[in-house]
Amino acid sequence: MFRAFIATASLAALVACGQPVSPAENPGAAEPADPAAGTTSQVLNIYSARHYDSDKAMYAKFEEETGIKVNVRESGAPELLETMKAEGADSPADVIIVSDAGALYQFQREGFTQPIRSDALEAAIPEQLREKDGHWFGLAKRARVIVYDPQLLPLEEVDTYADLAEDRLRGELCVRSSTNIYNLSLLGEIIGRLGSDAAETWAKGVASNFARPPEGGDTAQIEAVAAGQCAAAIVNHYYWVRLATGTTEERLTAAKTLVSFPDQDAGGTHINVTGAAVSSTSRSPDLAVKFIEFLTTPDGQALLTSETKEYPIVASAPVPEGLELLANFKQSDFPLSELGAHQAEAQAIFDRAGWN
Ligand code: FE
Repeated sequence: MFRAFIATASLAALVACGQPVSPAENPGAAEPADPAAGTTSQVLNIYSARHYDSDKAMYAKFEEETGIKVNVRESGAPELLETMKAEGADSPADVIIVSDAGALYQFQREGFTQPIRSDALEAAIPEQLREKDGHWFGLAKRARVIVYDPQLLPLEEVDTYADLAEDRLRGELCVRSSTNIYNLSLLGEIIGRLGSDAAETWAKGVASNFARPPEGGDTAQIEAVAAGQCAAAIVNHYYWVRLATGTTEERLTAAKTLVSFPDQDAGGTHINVTGAAVSSTSRSPDLAVKFIEFLTTPDGQALLTSETKEYPIVASAPVPEGLELLANFKQSDFPLSELGAHQAEAQAIFDRAGWN
């Protein structure tokens, strides 16, 4: 069980989130690592579905270290994919950054990624978290957890994903829409592990337990639990951590709930990644790889995760403020590159289950 109280987290510590890490941690930072750095012709175009202030510091740090100029286009992953479809082979994108292996798969499926071999990336990133041919690389982890109201439910009733489909939770669950990639990937793993029939039975059971039709994002589900609209919800862990380290009001919301990591006595909790791919249209794939490699350095990892509250994938990277609250859990070892193969079926199952 993971306690929700962090009301004493200091403002100073929170303000530190998103700041560049100390140059002392990277003595070479002041000098361009690339012999060609400083030439104005080196430009990297990044299409990112992220939208965090800390990412600006991340790009600045990379520019400072390499002399490579970074241009960023930020938009939702579906919008970025549509943009690239419209641009076609002329797309200026060099690097694509999106969250969830299911979203990375969609770019791969449309032919917008290219296979990359990088000893540094293969050494830094566990096989489970990257595409087998190098079409994309997971860079930060997230866990799909259950947030619940301990006044209404004991942990034993929400400590497996299977619990969520039990009759005893009738009218007690809040979830977001099945069109969201997070739920598609969770169901993709359940299909991969248990098979289609069991996955459909589960989805129908969960849908019959809804307290309300799916609405809102993950944060809205936590707020609904805290407000008593439902007893439990499925969310990504970092939304809870952000509330638990947020404003006074947000901390009070988090403190009314607890986090359960499902399936600790079985296959482990579903995890996913924020990841990056080299665009198939890139004319500077070497620079693109250099940037993705930078994101696996301790500095890059810190800047990638400090504000999002995702888990760094590199052990030497600093742990984001507040993440120690949810530090230890057994994670599923399901290969993330297999999620894409189940995505269409997952959507069909959700549709049949009435999980819209
Ligand atoms: Fe998210």
